[in-house]
Amino acid sequence: MVTASAGKRVVALDFDGVVCDSVGESSLSAFKAAAIQWPEIFQTAAAEAAKPQLVEQMRAVRPVVETGYENVVQIRCLYEGVTVEQMLAGWHDMLPAKMKEWGLQRSELVELFGGVRDSWIADDLAGWLAPNRIYPGVADAVAAAMQQDDVYIVTTKQAHYTEVLLRDMAGISFPSDRIHSTTVSGEPKASVLGRLAAQHADAAGYIFVEDKHSTLEKVTKAPGAEAWQLYLVDWGYNTPAERQAAAADPRITVVDLQHFQQLMGLSS
Ligand SMILES: [Mg+2]
Repeated sequence: MVTASAGKRVVALDFDGVVCDSVGESSLSAFKAAAIQWPEIFQTAAAEAAKPQLVEQMRAVRPVVETGYENVVQIRCLYEGVTVEQMLAGWHDMLPAKMKEWGLQRSELVELFGGVRDSWIADDLAGWLAPNRIYPGVADAVAAAMQQDDVYIVTTKQAHYTEVLLRDMAGISFPSDRIHSTTVSGEPKASVLGRLAAQHADAAGYIFVEDKHSTLEKVTKAPGAEAWQLYLVDWGYNTPAERQAAAADPRITVVDLQHFQQLMGLSS
């Protein structure tokens, strides 16, 4: 049970693309998961040889990914010749079409992708952490905010991985009950924000920081989310066009690292 603290701000941070650059790890995990799901395609010398290029393409298409399991579908699409441009333009429709074509269930893919990460972490924690990195200057800002605000992580990543990365890569022991993960539920972030605002009815302000423009757009349209001040970081997994669209939206502020640090109360 979280106790509301009047006078503090509520700060909700997205994780991947705001705090952690995780695309190297998620792409490699996707390859491992694809090798389990489709051994005849991915446990081959040809797929192994294509891996470096696939990982590079996965970075380019990262802006359209919402939840980790989608990476598994993406890597097969790319291997079978879908281009980065086609995926950036049409992923919203391509994802359900390919899942239907290949007989995939969301819950099974979530479990598969999580299982791959669990065994990788259990077998070789250092190897799993290595392709992740915390964005420079962000850990200090998060730590500063935790001194003065009620800070939450609101992420589509499973909470356990978020906690390990914060602990081992950022040196932050983050309370696990303040990590709100929507992986399994698929619950929109806007409704998580609604709950947080209700829990902290007397807060001094409500700040939500994301790298995904479409997520912020959904929040601007959600009833009850008016109290939240919305920020899009100018790093992470967004495109120049998305940053431009966000900047033109009066509800959203685009921030660079320096502005983010100020916002988190980190004095320079
Ligand atoms: Mg993100």
